[in-house]
Amino acid sequence: MTASRHYITTTIPYVNARPHLGFALELVQADTLARHRRRRGDRVRLVGGTDDNSLKNVLAAAAEGVDVRTLVDRNAAAFEALRGPLALSFDDFIRTSRDPRHRVGVERLWQRCAAAGDLYRKEYEGLYCVGCEQFYTEDELPGGRCAEHGTRPERIAEENWFFRLSRYADDLHDLISRGILRIEPAARRNEVLALIAGGLHDFSVSRSHTRARGWGIPVPGDPGQVVYVWWDALGNYVTSLGYGTDDPAYERWWVNGERRTHLVGKGVVRFHAVHWPAILLSAGLPQPRLVT
Ligand SMILES: [Zn+2]
Repeated sequence: MTASRHYITTTIPYVNARPHLGFALELVQADTLARHRRRRGDRVRLVGGTDDNSLKNVLAAAAEGVDVRTLVDRNAAAFEALRGPLALSFDDFIRTSRDPRHRVGVERLWQRCAAAGDLYRKEYEGLYCVGCEQFYTEDELPGGRCAEHGTRPERIAEENWFFRLSRYADDLHDLISRGILRIEPAARRNEVLALIAGGLHDFSVSRSHTRARGWGIPVPGDPGQVVYVWWDALGNYVTSLGYGTDDPAYERWWVNGERRTHLVGKGVVRFHAVHWPAILLSAGLPQPRLVT
């Protein structure tokens, strides 16, 4: 049997606070999978990192009265330091605000989707939960509050860039129902298929530079807007391989790797099984094989 290449990622956490135990569990699970595959003879690349560019981090810094850079560097260091006590066998660790590979890759992803005609500007008003870093509709908010955080989302009105997610519903359904992109466990897969079958709405993929308080990656060609944190964060799965640079790791592990696995918590399955695959379809990049 020839050894296969197995690229394994963890999600990258917001660094608005220090690590909590639940996230340590996710890291240990990813590490266990990586060690298992190495023992089976596979070549493995295990990658983690931190999501430095979220608005949550900006607000946490303001609440503490420190600048964002200070807060992000301090907390990200605490996450990276888990490698020691948890004996994590990371091959790479990407910090989205610090790593020079990241911004160029995010910009290229954006430009590819723009070239495909999938990005457009629209006036928008919606209810935004900063805790979740996403917009909600009224009917998704029991009693007007975020089900996850119990807080009242803020009403935001601004002109943003939108991504044509609606265009990809059939393709996503096809990829997942045929098992080209596997979602495990089966209960999550069925939830995702039901969500897609119910129709997908285009989603906002930028915010104003003002609301972002100047933190994050500027939208290519539109510096008054900052790339939405989920777009930025999901991009790490290819930017950490050097997508957007001439690093051969991207071809080796993403384009030609036999296995590409995203390990995710159940609260973010939708972003990994719907939004991210749609961005990849738009940009013309290969899909992950497994989201679990
Ligand atoms: Zn929330």
